[in-house]
Amino acid sequence: MSNAMSIQWWSESPKTIKSARVGVKEFVCYLAPHTIGALVFPELIPSTVCAGASIDCMRTCLAWHSGQAGMVPMGASDLYLNECRAARLRRLAVLYSARDEALDAMAAQAVKLASKAREAGMLPAFRPNGGSDLFWLGNGLAKRLNGIAQVFDYTKLMPSAMRDSNYHLTYSYNGENMASAMRALEIGINVAIVFAVPKKRALPMTWRTPFGEYPVIDGDEHDARFLDAPRSIVGLRAKGVAKQTFGKFAVTA
Ligand code: SF4
Repeated sequence: MSNAMSIQWWSESPKTIKSARVGVKEFVCYLAPHTIGALVFPELIPSTVCAGASIDCMRTCLAWHSGQAGMVPMGASDLYLNECRAARLRRLAVLYSARDEALDAMAAQAVKLASKAREAGMLPAFRPNGGSDLFWLGNGLAKRLNGIAQVFDYTKLMPSAMRDSNYHLTYSYNGENMASAMRALEIGINVAIVFAVPKKRALPMTWRTPFGEYPVIDGDEHDARFLDAPRSIVGLRAKGVAKQTFGKFAVTA
């Protein structure tokens, strides 16, 4: 068995499980975000796996600071590795040491999961960038899963348009990229915005921009973004570290 095949690439989370509300069985691939991989394996991994990240989104990144990944001693640095963080780092290292082999392994595991999902009457969907922002990763998976499953991601890199029919992208506002977010809306790509709104409190109904007013979808209801109506704002409530500090990217409602 190859190294890549021995890794479990896909997992579920409280957020992905919510997608069952709309008939979707969702799986995410969590990787070590932004500069972590490069700091630990400088010879293998490029300077960042999140080229569009802002200081605030790195500081509050849910892939490193929430759930099991966030269970670290008080004051621990981003380089402190618990079991969950180490697994995310290991996946990233394997991805960079044998890219095609890793993509094939991810696709092979996804095909099996997709088959089980369909047997259960659900639509299978995979989010490969659950802690990274690598177009080649999402696109590579989408090509391998064409006709088999939906692939989707959030991205902070400006998509020129939706490309593969089974690869859906939602642009993410990071506190510093409002002009690009406006451009995304203009060309029909939805934009995810974190609002400084507490859990269970309502999000605004609409969001006004210099180009017009857009409806706000409650993105915390489920995570199946490819089902959202086009030209919408995907409203998310601040979570994890962002909830305590409301970084610059959490906008006030
Ligand atoms: S771009 Fe996304 S995955 Fe990367 S650091 Fe920012 S929030 Fe985390």
